[in-house]
Amino acid sequence: MQYFPVFFALSDRHCLVVGGGEVAARKVSLLVRAGARVTVVSPALCESLAGRLTRTEIEHQARDFEDSDLDGTILVVAATDDEAVNRRISELCKARSLPVNVVDQPELCSFIVPSMIDRSPVQVAVSTGGAAPVLARLLRARLETQIPAAYGRLAELMDEFREQVKARISDAERRRHFWENVAQGAIAEMVFTGKEEGARAAMHEALEEAAVDQTPRGEVYLVGAGPGDPDLLTFRALRLLQQADVIVYDRLVSEEILDLARRDADLVYVGKARDQHTLPQEDINHLLARVAKKGKRVLRLKGGDPFIFGRGGEEIETLMNEGVNFQIVPGITAASGAAAYAGIPLTHRRYAQSVTFVTGHLKDGSMDLNWKMLAQPHQTVVVYMGLLGVKNLCAKLIEHGRAADTPIALVQKATTRQQKVFVGTLESMPGIVEQSDIQPPTLIIVGEVVELHKKLSWFGAASNVGGD
Ligand code: SAH
Repeated sequence: MQYFPVFFALSDRHCLVVGGGEVAARKVSLLVRAGARVTVVSPALCESLAGRLTRTEIEHQARDFEDSDLDGTILVVAATDDEAVNRRISELCKARSLPVNVVDQPELCSFIVPSMIDRSPVQVAVSTGGAAPVLARLLRARLETQIPAAYGRLAELMDEFREQVKARISDAERRRHFWENVAQGAIAEMVFTGKEEGARAAMHEALEEAAVDQTPRGEVYLVGAGPGDPDLLTFRALRLLQQADVIVYDRLVSEEILDLARRDADLVYVGKARDQHTLPQEDINHLLARVAKKGKRVLRLKGGDPFIFGRGGEEIETLMNEGVNFQIVPGITAASGAAAYAGIPLTHRRYAQSVTFVTGHLKDGSMDLNWKMLAQPHQTVVVYMGLLGVKNLCAKLIEHGRAADTPIALVQKATTRQQKVFVGTLESMPGIVEQSDIQPPTLIIVGEVVELHKKLSWFGAASNVGGD
């Protein structure tokens, strides 16, 4: 090891930063976060340091460095733009055995500052010993995505219960299992979703039950998988995918996303193709409750967002009635995904002041929509499940007064490599659809904003298909 990693207790201790620029400010920010009393020596202060001074978070000596500045301090950072000064500070500190960091000059440092992930009290520090700071930053970014933001709160809760758990569960192995269940199960999830009181109550309950051997309590995660591109999953969706025992998914969820599931998870397909429901909704609702009650962590994975034309509400209602714990993870809905990847902003100061999401699912052979409202100009209408009804849709909008040359786009398999964007007008689109081999799922966007596709299209190669 070139360096020995330690965590330094700085609370209420005197630290010295020499230099008043942005580089110094970044170090000051870290020291202040660690509770240090920071003195900054520098003739001038940059804006952010001046702000800290006003808030009395730091002390300031408005002059050049003097040797006596080192008196009474326990840690020193030199961040001036004068190399000779930096070197002198380094030498003085080394003579006094004072830990010193000279920014960006490892040979003058007695300690270096790592990249950190701060989930206090949980902290992760990453260092490449100055060899490749970019690598440390990349690694940090990767860890950052894998450690939930609320990990610190979880650690605090675990700390709060440490003595009690020790007293209650004497066997070390069982104690470890207990803690693993806490850290990966319902209690941790409660903390992550801000239900700390619930988590505390569940902790007490789990402890009570720990004397008797208890089976773990199951729960359901209702998760939005986004429109297709796995990169559009949320961190939480990914984390839950990797911990669920059973994954219940439907047609819109891509293989690539299922590949991210825990290797030994059971995958249950309950897909719904148009008009041929593999499992009636009612049965899905009860399936989730039944499996969770066996103690399993069930992940219900739905395309897009579960609360946008996703019937997520119905599934949750059943869980609620049956007293099963659950949480809901939003996803990027098809409208957001398609709009972004097709380069069609859904609102725009010039073209559209509002956007409406409707379903084009046929009801008694006709679309039951408020046509008068949807035909108003300067608004965007996004139609889910509208491919079969596209002819009817265009006709109705024209009939109720929307201009026949209003642009309309049909986005096939948005955000995936098979994405295609067909652009036309209310008049021409039915013809375009008839002549093209269009594959579901497709999303329809109506409104002046579709014009912007020509300029803003960026994703995929054959992105602009159809009439101009
Ligand atoms: N809950 C989903 C919508 C389910 S309804 C969401 O929030 O996105 C199913 C409809 O969503 C499809 O008929 C289609 O209109 C739309 N859809 C879903 N994924 C899509 C995709 N990748 N590209 C285009 N349309 C999509």
